[in-house]
Amino acid sequence: MAPSADQTAPNTERSDELFQRAARAVPGGVNSPVRAFSAVGGTPRFITEAAGWKLTDVDGNSYVDLVCSWGPMILGHAHPAVVEAVRQAATGGLSFGAPTVGEIELAEEIIDRVDPVSRVRLVNSGTEATMSAVRLARGFTGRSKIVKFAGCYHGHVDALLADAGSGVATLGLPTSPGVTGAAAHDTLVLPYNDLAAVEAAFAEHGADIAAVITEAAAGNMGAVAPVDGFNEGLRAITARHGSLLIMDEVMTGFRVSPAGYYGIDGVAADLYTFGKVMSGGLPAAAFGGRTEIMDHLAPTGPVYQAGTLSGNPVAVAAGLATLRNATAEVYETLDANADRLGGLIGDALTEAGVGHRVQKAGNLLSVFFTDATDPIVDFAGVKATESWRFAPFFHALLDRGVYAPPSGFESWFVSAALDDEAFSIIADALPAAAAAAASAVAPGEGS
Ligand SMILES: *Cc1c(COP(=O)(O)O)cnc(C)c1O
Repeated sequence: MAPSADQTAPNTERSDELFQRAARAVPGGVNSPVRAFSAVGGTPRFITEAAGWKLTDVDGNSYVDLVCSWGPMILGHAHPAVVEAVRQAATGGLSFGAPTVGEIELAEEIIDRVDPVSRVRLVNSGTEATMSAVRLARGFTGRSKIVKFAGCYHGHVDALLADAGSGVATLGLPTSPGVTGAAAHDTLVLPYNDLAAVEAAFAEHGADIAAVITEAAAGNMGAVAPVDGFNEGLRAITARHGSLLIMDEVMTGFRVSPAGYYGIDGVAADLYTFGKVMSGGLPAAAFGGRTEIMDHLAPTGPVYQAGTLSGNPVAVAAGLATLRNATAEVYETLDANADRLGGLIGDALTEAGVGHRVQKAGNLLSVFFTDATDPIVDFAGVKATESWRFAPFFHALLDRGVYAPPSGFESWFVSAALDDEAFSIIADALPAAAAAAASAVAPGEGS
């Protein structure tokens, strides 16, 4: 659907032109599907620069950024200490394909923050981290099956795309063509937050299950926190059956607390995956865990894993500078900003009479349109919401300078850079957005 034609709609002439040009060179005009605005319609904004909370597009429009590059930019954009660290690293050479001190420091920083992690291997993306963790779990246990949960997203790894959240959910794909039966065959997909289903799967396949992989708190079907006892239950069941527990903290890691979701629930997994915040906006990610397991990786062990650019000095510098500047105060600010944002959204929707739930998982949050009063705990619950209210809500915000995630199946990300000016832009935009959500028409109910 096109953005409403009211006078507040910004000029997007240059973005329109660039999107058409991009589509002639790049499939769908984007390098990651959710950027194409498929779920909300309209033209994706081509960004020229960003600083603090402010994104600026090619037409000169500016926005309060509530996506933060899908998580990494907890300090805000172009944080001076991060930019300076990157400048210094780049000046010293872009890549060596040989060890550097920075790689040790970043691994040590992660180990210091997350107790159950005693060895870390750096990779280039969250996808690579989960792919490698799954291979390692299979190599370590000598078993083939993996349990994942519907609505959780672990990157575009073949074996993990089944019933995935994020862009897969946005586009309504059950899985993806190109994923062979063989790759999907060993993946068991269970409902999130359902320990009985996990018990049943282990009763039937326990001896073949290499690992359970879960988002430490689901953020890729919108924010759906684990219910009390869920992560603990996964820990107990996997331990009882000699399977590994892989906590995917690519989204939550170093964002929802200094130690990620582990810092909130204290459930110790065998393996962890990290990305997003830990590389401060440059391409780097990591997986880590107990020494005994991690030592099965080459060159100490037989499980092969490698990368030409892994531990890249510039990406490592950005990650280290981000983590070193992510102080206790930054985490307090992130939490306070998420509360403030959630409060404003909730008040505006209540005022407009729109049934909703603002759900949080740590300082991740999302807005579900529903009259149900119970928390939404799984993907079926997410899919049952009135998600058709999201596109008009989104566009009314965008037209007024607020950049929310362009899909109702994604979390909103705050930064510590949000200030009173940013919040007043958000507060001013919300009444019209809530009104747009209120007057949204369900598909098939056209007026
Ligand atoms: C983003 C994300 C990934 C994938 O990371 P990429 O860097 O996009 O490959 C994996 N797991 C979770 C939980 C994520 O949020």
